[in-house]
Amino acid sequence: MPLHFPSRDASRRTPSVADTPVSVARPSDEDSTTAWMSAGNCRNYPPAVFFPSDGVGVDRARKICTDCPVADQCLEYALDQRIEHGVWGGCSERERRRILKRRRVAATAG
Ligand code: SF4
Repeated sequence: MPLHFPSRDASRRTPSVADTPVSVARPSDEDSTTAWMSAGNCRNYPPAVFFPSDGVGVDRARKICTDCPVADQCLEYALDQRIEHGVWGGCSERERRRILKRRRVAATAG
């Protein structure tokens, strides 16, 4: 996993710039399940952009994600890893919580 991606444990603490969703994968990650990261639009932006502190910042990050070729993988990765902080796949923390809740409800409904 790239150093700048938070691990499952790291995602549960206050994020720092080192814990960023920016998808600049290290070359050694190319064959891993995170190979998609190297194709993310965010590779051209400072990591802090994806850990906004307000709604304006969230909108800015989302805009970068809008035409990202790996947005689906990014979102599913964040959902799967239960990453709580930052914008991933064009979704804020709140949006990801809603998606997970909808999926739980759908799974129990059946
Ligand atoms: S969807 Fe956004 S955060 Fe995810 S890889 Fe693309 S630009 Fe980066």
